[in-house]
Amino acid sequence: MAMSDRLQIRICPTCGSDKIRRVVRDIARKYEEQTYTVPKVGFYDCPHCGEKVYDHEAMLKIKEYSPAYHKADPILKA
Ligand SMILES: [Zn+2]
Repeated sequence: MAMSDRLQIRICPTCGSDKIRRVVRDIARKYEEQTYTVPKVGFYDCPHCGEKVYDHEAMLKIKEYSPAYHKADPILKA
């Protein structure tokens, strides 16, 4: 199956906890004075140390919503 490109994390890279798990949440990010929300981002969240790990898919989605990204690369602003 085509799951090979998805990051699989079972142990937190920061504290070694096996409680880290994948969650889907809206996240708020800030760029200069502007706050923007990226809806339904899938990432790994460690309840033990608070580490958050974003996979490639999540990073692409964050970029897609980022004002900085649109500013830097207007060609992608369809
Ligand atoms: Zn951790």
